Amino acid sequence: MSGPEVIVAGVGPTGLLLATELELAGVDVEVLERRPARTGQSKALNLQPRSAEILDLRGLLEPVLDQALALLPGGHFAGLPVPLDYTALQTRHPYQIGIPQARVEELLEDRLARPVARGSSLAAFTQDADGVTVTTSDGRELRARYLVGCDGGRSTVRKLLGTPFTGRDPRVQAVVADVILNDHEGLIPAEWTLPALNPSGSVFVLPLTGGAYRVVFAGAEQQGLPRDAPITEDEVRRALAVRYQDALELVGISWASRFNDTSRQAEQYRSGRVFLAGDAAHVHFPLGGQGLNLGLQDAFNLGWKLAAAVRGTAPDGLLDTYHDERHPIAARVLANTRAQGVLTWPDGDVAAFRALFADLLALPDTNRYLAEMVSGLDTHYPMPGDHPLLGRRMPDLDLATPAGPTRVSHLMRDGRALLLTFGSSVPPENPRVQNVRAEPSPQLDADAVLIRPDGHVCWVGSEPGAAVSAWFGPPAEAAGVSGRGSP
Ligand SMILES: Cc1cc2nc3c(=O)[nH]c(=O)nc-3n(C[C@H](O)[C@H](O)[C@H](O)COP(=O)(O)OP(=O)(O)OC[C@H]3O[C@@H](n4cnc5c(N)ncnc54)[C@H](O)[C@@H]3O)c2cc1C
Repeated sequence: MSGPEVIVAGVGPTGLLLATELELAGVDVEVLERRPARTGQSKALNLQPRSAEILDLRGLLEPVLDQALALLPGGHFAGLPVPLDYTALQTRHPYQIGIPQARVEELLEDRLARPVARGSSLAAFTQDADGVTVTTSDGRELRARYLVGCDGGRSTVRKLLGTPFTGRDPRVQAVVADVILNDHEGLIPAEWTLPALNPSGSVFVLPLTGGAYRVVFAGAEQQGLPRDAPITEDEVRRALAVRYQDALELVGISWASRFNDTSRQAEQYRSGRVFLAGDAAHVHFPLGGQGLNLGLQDAFNLGWKLAAAVRGTAPDGLLDTYHDERHPIAARVLANTRAQGVLTWPDGDVAAFRALFADLLALPDTNRYLAEMVSGLDTHYPMPGDHPLLGRRMPDLDLATPAGPTRVSHLMRDGRALLLTFGSSVPPENPRVQNVRAEPSPQLDADAVLIRPDGHVCWVGSEPGAAVSAWFGPPAEAAGVSGRGSP
């Protein structure tokens, strides 16, 4: 039975970015999607700075910026009145991009060479020592080397694996609705603002395009309703009236959904040849706008590793680093969203805590700590060694190279690792690593830096040969590199 090398189940943002990464590395990917057509609906409306950076590493940021509805200079924590200041962070992209999830998905899907198999759900699978056999809802049987479940919070792949999804059930329920409104008194600013909770009720309204608005609310009425209870115009009107009385006239609802603060995480992201990524691996309350961003970064971490495994150049242990690196990152997001959730409870004592927390957020160090966390810029993977860059994202430095001026992000667009040498280091030839010699940078205290395809620094020193082989396999395109050192 012939088939793709990797099967990705689910074309949310996670599955799409993963599939583009695999294709960029020359891997044959089949993407399965349960829905027969795009819905055009968007849960998320933002991209955080680290997502902007990773899209920039692949030349995907410009089209995203072209379609952005807003650029916000910061983020928020629990809707507190003091914003998280991204302008103080060290990045080329110190802003949050306001863009509907559906547009991000379209831009990513446009990059795919092989069309998505829509209306074709993953229904079952088995795995053995050599691969995975997937049965689809439309009666096909596919054989691949690996399978990745990017099939959302109710992941079939996760359930079929039997992977425990540890955490807690919901305590709070909210509604998101995209509506048409008449705002006769001009109460809703045309420019996007960060959500700030209002003492008269937690309803938030944001302008979209063409007279459409996003309304999010979580009042007393919403608690205890069944998740599938229909969302009526009257329910939305009552929520709007809490804050705006009758100043906003609701004309109609184009899409509405109930969501909640369930907080759960898969205990294992890898089970043999099967992986979980994005919401399939973790779900949490969408406070601060982090979930989609977390999924993109899961995909970016896994893509190049899986491609190396398919090509037979992955060193021992490389695939396991996906769980080891990404599980703690999501655990931290689950913790910060639970903390934000507590800060939004309608309770007098919580109001006192919010006031105190807002004072703390006004302190630059506190603000920066949380801004780096919510933006994803503080992502740090454990790596041996004590250089401060190890495991962290490589800064997008301007570089003077023999080929002319450039910058790190522009050198990484082909998806390969990058070895930057500044001193006398002799770079080893390896087809999976691009060698670039650059003028020493005052911002970097190193002779040579090895940067993984996901933009994280994995080695700093002066003799890169052993590190290149340990991370990316020996120079020859030989299959099986076990025993060459593990990353
Ligand atoms: C109201 C709300 C607002 C949010 N706002 C934000 C925000 O502002 N910022 C942010 O970062 N995050 C936000 N999130 C979270 C964000 O939307 C999710 O984290 C994101 O959609 C996860 O992407 P994903 O690709 O992992 O999964 P999904 O987007 O859920 O995609 C999974 C895909 O898999 C498909 N699928 C399911 N089962 C199968 C199967 N068996 N076979 C094949 N395909 C299958 C589904 O049809 C779907 O297309 C919000 C969430 C909610 C509910």
